[in-house]
Amino acid sequence: MRPVLTTRIVCGFCTQTFVEDQGQPACQSCPLSSGCHYIRCPNCGYENPVAPKWVTRLTRWIVSDEPD
Ligand SMILES: [Zn+2]
Repeated sequence: MRPVLTTRIVCGFCTQTFVEDQGQPACQSCPLSSGCHYIRCPNCGYENPVAPKWVTRLTRWIVSDEPD
């Protein structure tokens, strides 16, 4: 088994949790896809905005904040 780093996304519409890999890029045929950060929920098709990496890092830092 190799460690797989997956980003979990909670759909803003149906609140279903899915792994980023399971989501479909919202604009596969869009020429601006490289600058568009939306990922489609496999359950309902809602296009969820994907948080930038620094937001994920910040969230992780807040969540893992433990008292000394
Ligand atoms: Zn959904």
